Amino acid sequence: MQLVDLDRYQQQHKSDLPPKLKKLVPELNKYFERALERSQDAAPRADIVPVTLAKKLSIDEALALALLMISENAGVVTPKYHVLCPETGSFLGEFKSIEDLPDSIHCPYHESGEKEHGVDDYDVDLVFRFTPRVLRKYVRANKG
Ligand SMILES: [Zn+2]
Repeated sequence: MQLVDLDRYQQQHKSDLPPKLKKLVPELNKYFERALERSQDAAPRADIVPVTLAKKLSIDEALALALLMISENAGVVTPKYHVLCPETGSFLGEFKSIEDLPDSIHCPYHESGEKEHGVDDYDVDLVFRFTPRVLRKYVRANKG
């Protein structure tokens, strides 16, 4: 399944992708396909982590991020910002954009009691998730 369609990208942007990225798109599509297969059993969350993608494709993380931005542009994935406790690494919340990140967030994961983590304190992980459109497309393609 060609999720990231280069012809379409080129039409929309009236420009070509840098050759370095272009070369990686077939592998990216393969990675997405496997991730979609996995997401069928591991519902409801199928996060694509930039550093994992980088490892799989043997590229650096900046390049993996660039590929994910292109994929976002193509409507394949959407970014999610995960807020984590800086001490326990526990998941505290999920936000759509940097602007949505809270000034402080409540954290129940401490033996000493509950804590409040400020924006300078908590950790943020950027992950990507398949859009509902892509998930529907995948389910349809695999039903018939
Ligand atoms: Zn905490």
